[in-house]
Amino acid sequence: LVSLKKVNKHYGPLHVLKDIDLEVARGEVVVVIGPSGSGKSTLCRAINRLETIDDGEIRVDGKVLPAEGKALARLRADVGMVFQSFNLFAHKSILENVTLGPVKVKGMKGGEAKELALSLLKRVGVDNQADKLPAQLSGGQQQRVAIARALAMKPKVMLFDEPTSALDPEMINEVLDAMVALAKEGMTMIVVTHEMGFARKAADRVVFMADGQIVEQATPEEFFTNPRSERAKDFLGKIL
Ligand code: ATP
Ligand code: MG
Repeated sequence: LVSLKKVNKHYGPLHVLKDIDLEVARGEVVVVIGPSGSGKSTLCRAINRLETIDDGEIRVDGKVLPAEGKALARLRADVGMVFQSFNLFAHKSILENVTLGPVKVKGMKGGEAKELALSLLKRVGVDNQADKLPAQLSGGQQQRVAIARALAMKPKVMLFDEPTSALDPEMINEVLDAMVALAKEGMTMIVVTHEMGFARKAADRVVFMADGQIVEQATPEEFFTNPRSERAKDFLGKIL
């Protein structure tokens, strides 16, 4: 469903993505881990075309990423993204945060969008907060709203970039639980996270990045018990 071939990206002299090859099948859950600065966020942003790439090819559902315009907006609708910071619209209600995309980008009727939004907010357990403003919610609740908002676009794949790293510890699980449920429902997911519990519970595959390269890939079981590369051993030694 998502395919990267020989993807390269530089920031000036800095080579941040080096010949990245990655195939993610429909329904697959891939967890990306690696040291700070290894290119994980850049990879996510490239898949959503929030960043351009220098060479190589990225396809989503067979289609090469378009550069701009309507085609790009349509592609973005196929790729849901949840960031570390929740990025909700501060002056709009929770409900409006979720209905805005379907109405503006997909031309959905207001009533239909509201129904969809309420069902998604219910799915992540925050439907009782629909009329509040983001600032009135806890971090964990806001992040679950961000997930509902991404799902409202009916994406084919969901990207998560450290969705729980800005949260207080007691709120991490409520967000991870919503993500595990999504994974179990068959959503295709690419998740940057250092939450090993999530990786063990939900990931089909762990991709380990270092220095802009994919150093190794394995099942979570294999990767955590028997990492092959020195870099991965070193990294796991620090975080486990
Ligand atoms: P972290 O775990 O800290 O989030 P990461 O693996 O997500 O790290 P990236 O954010 O993808 O790493 O960054 C990869 C490299 O690119 C880093 O060296 C970073 O400093 C650099 N970088 C990222 N964004 C930019 C930018 N807009 N301009 C210049 N350099 C950048
Ligand atoms: Mg990052």
